[in-house]
Parts: sequence; structure tokens; C-alpha cells
Amino acid sequence: MQNNISTVLKNLGVLDLNPAFSTGSNWGASANAKTIDSLSPVDGKKIASVQLATAEDYEAVVKKAEEAFIFWRSLPAPKRGDIVRQFGDALRLHKEDLGTLVSYEMGKSLQEGFGEVQEMIDICDFAVGLSRQLYGLTMHSERPNHRMYEQWHPMGIVGIISAFNFPVAVWSWNTALAWVCGNVCIWKPSSKTPLCGVACQHIIATVLKNNDMPEGISNLLIGNAVGDLINNDKRIPLVSFTGSTRIGRVVSSAVAGRFGRSILELGGNNAIIISKDADIDMSIIGAVFGAVGTAGQRCTSTRRLIIHEDIYEDFKNKLTKAYGQLRIGDPLDQHNHVGPLIDTAAVDMYTHAIEKGKKEGAKFIVEGGVLNGNPYQSGFYVKPCVAEVENHYEIVQEETFAPILYLIKYKTLDQAISLQNGVPQGLSSAIMTLNLREAEQFLSVAGSDCGIANVNIGTSGAEIGGAFGGEKETGGGRESGSDAWKAYMRRQTNTINYSNTLPLAQGIKFDL
Ligand code: NAD
Repeated sequence: MQNNISTVLKNLGVLDLNPAFSTGSNWGASANAKTIDSLSPVDGKKIASVQLATAEDYEAVVKKAEEAFIFWRSLPAPKRGDIVRQFGDALRLHKEDLGTLVSYEMGKSLQEGFGEVQEMIDICDFAVGLSRQLYGLTMHSERPNHRMYEQWHPMGIVGIISAFNFPVAVWSWNTALAWVCGNVCIWKPSSKTPLCGVACQHIIATVLKNNDMPEGISNLLIGNAVGDLINNDKRIPLVSFTGSTRIGRVVSSAVAGRFGRSILELGGNNAIIISKDADIDMSIIGAVFGAVGTAGQRCTSTRRLIIHEDIYEDFKNKLTKAYGQLRIGDPLDQHNHVGPLIDTAAVDMYTHAIEKGKKEGAKFIVEGGVLNGNPYQSGFYVKPCVAEVENHYEIVQEETFAPILYLIKYKTLDQAISLQNGVPQGLSSAIMTLNLREAEQFLSVAGSDCGIANVNIGTSGAEIGGAFGGEKETGGGRESGSDAWKAYMRRQTNTINYSNTLPLAQGIKFDL
């Protein structure tokens, strides 16, 4: 893979770049910049090192972004959309290389790496259309000869802080919409996947340069310290944060403390209810893919199965059999189902969760464990495992970002829905049933409390056309499709008086 990855980096044009920041055409780092190594979880080898942005680098980037905003906000939205269209075209050309880098640097399967880039392309297409549809309403004024309407203006600089598990797609969900809305963006990718960040920035920087756009429309800053600078910077009116609930709490209180706005896309604890009226074969595939895909490192990964008591034993046996067929190994080898976790800290969290679960009473029907030796030399490969638990166990209430699946039995649908909702997080949920009444109850106001509720589809993954995000400790943010664009703009209500008097609202009289 090492030879192959050098070619991939070369094709992406990032081999000779070793930046701490980029404002578009300007790439750089202070003389005293420290570096971090990007290690592949696939084989534990160093891919490259990247410099870390300093406070001076940060200042230089924010200044460029402020200048660029003045230009970019005045460009007609469809013209901004055309730049995004060209970005989508550039991504089509780089899909194979960027997808391969995502797979090698993050550890997800090659198919999922390509899928992530496809998601970027799809959101660009969506944003291009949106650039001609940033509609505001008109309202009837209560006063004669007055006109009232609302319009949407860009916010300014949007700070995007992203997680390691979707190293490219989450940025593009945010940035493609933010750009057509007239904002400029500063991206701080996860320090676990910095090269994906450099590659994406290189692709958009080339598009911007080919269009003679000024520096500062798309900016990249590498390093954990940048997060706090963004949180506390009044020049950044909107922060879109994707990551753990723990860090999300820090970000949201810092941003709210300065009356900034945030979009929070935090942890999930997603369940599938398996009804006695479910299509069992479909349910097994949905459950296994949801639990072990991306090695359980998706915010929408299936963590809990809530199974009807009448089919519980049968389903458990079929699930155990399916787990027996899983192939764990190099995610770039398309025969494997399960790749590695991201790093040592993730492996420690996985083993800790298993130990804690056992202490609380979890009964493992498929045992876990860390895999070592060839071909698992990175030390980050673990066995997907399954345990019978009760929903109130502390470990079941938490999100463990690893392939651990919990089984819970239920009697009535009311009870199943209450178990599904009985966790602090509220991202994705699903019911597998062929019974219309059950499906509708699950989707009703008394049903799932999550941002995403599916019928006969698992919890994992989503299409870009819908608004994506979740409730409760998942943070309440929405990104991607539907009218999620409104979060990137400020609404202004305008009232115009074209009469020759000045009537006041609510009929108030004020004569001089
Ligand atoms: P994380 O919270 O550890 O890190 C996320 C980002 O925050 C990284 O870029 C990190 O460098 C940065 N960061 C760290 N400290 C910061 C601070 N004080 N201020 C600002 N930024 C800071 O998360 P992770 O391990 O990279 O990703 C996994 C988590 O992300 C899981 O909980 C997963 O559910 C969640 N996630 C949620 C969604 C969603 O859409 N809801 C999508 C992907 C991942």
C-alpha cells in the first residue's frame, strides 16, 4: 500500500505540501511550527507529517477570510453556485484517489471511502441548485401601502470543526451550503486525518485559482489548538461542530457565551426495533451492517437492537451465525467486512466498555477481543461483539465508538419505543416491521424522539437530500439537505412604506 499511497498523494497534489494552514493560493506555516504525523490505522505506518498552525497562522487566516467575505458576499449566488459546480466536477475527477486516501488514513472500507467522496459530489449538485433557490417569504402588511418581506443574508466566516470518522464529507456538507449562501469558511479537520483535509483544500484551491477568486474563501487550519481559538473568536459568527458530545458541550457553551451561533452534530446511541412482524433476513443485514460497518465508528452506527420476545431467541441465533461470517482485515481489500479502529485510544475505549459492561451484567454472546500479529500489525483491529444487556446499564447509555452491539428484549411496542428513547442521545432510529400500524406509531408524535427515524432501513447512513442531525445530547443541529441552508444565513425582515403617512403597527396613535 505504501507505494500505492505515494501515487495517490502525488495525484492529489499534496505530496510536496506540508502546511499548517492554507488560505487558498497561500500555503504556509510559521518558522516555529510543530508537526504531527498522520498514521494509517490500516498498517500503523506513517503516511506523512503535517505542520501545526500557530496563533499567528490563525490570525493571518482570519484576516484573509474577512477580506474575502466582502468580495464573496457580493458575488451573485448563482455565480457562487457555479464555483461549487466546478468543485463537484473536480471531485468527480479525484474520486478514486481521494476515496483511497480516506480509506487508508481513516481506516474505513474502500467502498465507504468512495461513498464519502460521492456524498461530496452529491452535496455540490444540491448546493448548485440551491444557489438559485435561497427563497424568502413575502407577507401581507397590516398597514395600507406597505410591503413586507424577508431576505436571507450570509453570516460571514463559518468555522467548521470536523470529526475523524467522516474526514471529507462532513466538511463538504457544511462548506458547499455555506459558500452558496455567501459565507467564507475556515476548516479545522481532525488531527487524526489531516491529509484528507490538505487534499480537499488543494482541490478547491485549484478551482478557486482557475476562476481568479481571491484568497480566503476556503481556508484550512491544522491542529487541536485551533478549535479553542475558533470557539472564542467573535469574528466567527457561526461554528459548525461535528464530534463527541463531550467536546460539543465545550464548543457550544463557548460559542453561546459570546452570542455566536453553533450547529452541533454530536454523538448518537442508535437503536433498531425488530418487531415480530419484521422481515428477518432484511433485519439481520441492516443490523450487522449498522453495527460493524466503519468498525462501529459512525455517528449513526447501530448500538442497540430492541427485539420482540417472541422472535428474540431465533433472531439471536441468526445474528450470531452472521457474526461468525465476518471477515476482519485490511479495509482496502474489498473481501473484508470490518477494518481497524482509528487509534490506540479507540482500542482502549472498546476494551474498557467490554469490561465495564461485564461488571454491570452484560452477557456476551459473541465475544470481543483485540487482534494482533499479521495482518493486524497496527494493533487497532478488534472483534465485533454482541452482548445481552438491560437498557439502563451505564455502558448502554453511553456511546462507545466501536463495534459493540447490545441486545434488549421487549414485549409491547410502547415499551420498545420507550427503551429506544430512553438514552441521552437522539440521532438515528429505526423499526423493522411489515405492520403498518406499528410503523406509523413509531413515526408518530408518541414515537421515536430522534432526528432520523426509518422504517425497514437500518440506522446507519443517510441521503444528502434530507436534513441530517439529532436531538437531545446529539446537539439539535441540522446539516445537508431540506432547508438546512437557513442555519448558514441571517434572516432579515423588511417593511417598506410607500404611502404618504406614517401609520404605526398595532394601530398605535402618535400625533405631534
Ligand atoms: P472529538 O470530539 O474527539 O473531535 C472532534 C473535533 O473536535 C476534532 O477536530 C478535534 O480536534 C476537535 N476538538 C478537540 N477539542 C476541541 C475544543 N476544545 N474545541 C474545539 N474543537 C475541539 O470526536 P472524534 O473522535 O473526532 O469523532 C467521533 C465523535 O463524533 C463521535 O461521538 C461521533 O458520534 C461524532 N460524530 C457525530 C456526527 C453527527 O453528524 N452527529 C458525525 C460524525 C461524528
